[in-house]
Amino acid sequence: MTVPRAALRSLDDALAELLGHAAALEGIENVSTFDADGRVLARDLVSALQVPPQDNSAMDGYAVRTSEIADEGVPLPVSQRIPAGSAAEPLVPGSAARIFTGAPIPPGADAVVMQEDTEAVGEQLVKIMRVPSLGQWIRRSGEDVAKGAIVLVKGERLTPAAAGLAAGIGMDKVPVARRPRVALFSTGDELVMPGEVPPERMKPGAIYNSNRFFLSALLRRFGCEVTDYGIVPDRRDATVEALRKASHEHDLILTSGGVSVGEEDHIKPAVQALGSLDLWQIAIKPGKPFAYGQVGRAHFMGLPGNPVSSFVTFLLLVRPFLLKLKGATHLVPQSVQMPAHFDWPRADKRREFLRVRRDAEGGLALFPNQSSGVLTSAAWADGLVDNLPGRTIRRGDLVAFIALAELLA
Ligand code: AMP
Ligand code: MG
Repeated sequence: MTVPRAALRSLDDALAELLGHAAALEGIENVSTFDADGRVLARDLVSALQVPPQDNSAMDGYAVRTSEIADEGVPLPVSQRIPAGSAAEPLVPGSAARIFTGAPIPPGADAVVMQEDTEAVGEQLVKIMRVPSLGQWIRRSGEDVAKGAIVLVKGERLTPAAAGLAAGIGMDKVPVARRPRVALFSTGDELVMPGEVPPERMKPGAIYNSNRFFLSALLRRFGCEVTDYGIVPDRRDATVEALRKASHEHDLILTSGGVSVGEEDHIKPAVQALGSLDLWQIAIKPGKPFAYGQVGRAHFMGLPGNPVSSFVTFLLLVRPFLLKLKGATHLVPQSVQMPAHFDWPRADKRREFLRVRRDAEGGLALFPNQSSGVLTSAAWADGLVDNLPGRTIRRGDLVAFIALAELLA
């Protein structure tokens, strides 16, 4: 067996190389707009109509001609009644039209007077108690969307509001990228599945398999179809066979554990027997070891076993890779500057991703234990501080905060 050489590289270089291997998956699905949330748009959506389709009233009130109302208190005959959803006749000169929110403005009218600024005189007359300005309370045709406009752009990730917008231009289905198919494996003889062994009967050295749960949840959150192969049997032939099978049916094979330099395990030689594997040392903390390779036509990624390393490496490397497979154009998470409400006196040679939480005073609190094995830090945190190599932090310093809400979407 040849032991792959581990090269130390920056996160940016690693990400650039990784994304260089990722191409948008072929195949477009037309999904119901009800199911579009979270999917990546595969084509621009162009509007075939104006939204709103006609000029319409923003208020319940009266449609009028401003040129006919020089003074307050002038009574006008009510010449028609226009509820939402009905068509309007041209406005009779010298009259007002009773109108309701969303109803079309009658031709000839150039303002709406809200009900609160009027006084009805019997059934047939209305007094306008405030002189209207031209165009008031009229929502213009096309002020939301113009006919022919690109409403949503290919590569955008659809949100609930975007689904509503697509429906607003008449689309009951939207073209989206197909879901990546991902095979998930855990490695490590110490791993035990919760539910199989109760806590009081755990053998010395055994730990529960936590990575499998958050990796599976993360993959599903990113819209993947996940095949969970569980814990890989501790045999070379079984591992090769599982990888071979997974490679035919999946776009990505993702494993956790067993990628530290020099470690003996079955994943590494098995991947190399079927395809290629590069072991990387990425200059980040947590999460140094990482493997990328190919098995047949499937990509292979090996995450570190330490839970926080595995979690953070997924968010920094696997997430953008999956987004690129889905054809998404926005891959880089947005960071914002926030004041640290903690001290971080020891600089590290590696770029650190500290688990922090926003506090009520508009700053960031640090989880006290930043060890890569302490998963509590990731469950407690609502974001990461991206701390560049060699940097110390003093209370009050502005730091780059990336919200987990940003990374988990
Ligand atoms: P490894 O990368 O395999 O050397 O594992 C590094 C550390 O992470 C060891 O302490 C492992 O026990 C732990 N670990 C590996 N896989 C998992 C997992 N699926 N769940 C929880 N801890 C794990
Ligand atoms: Mg291991």
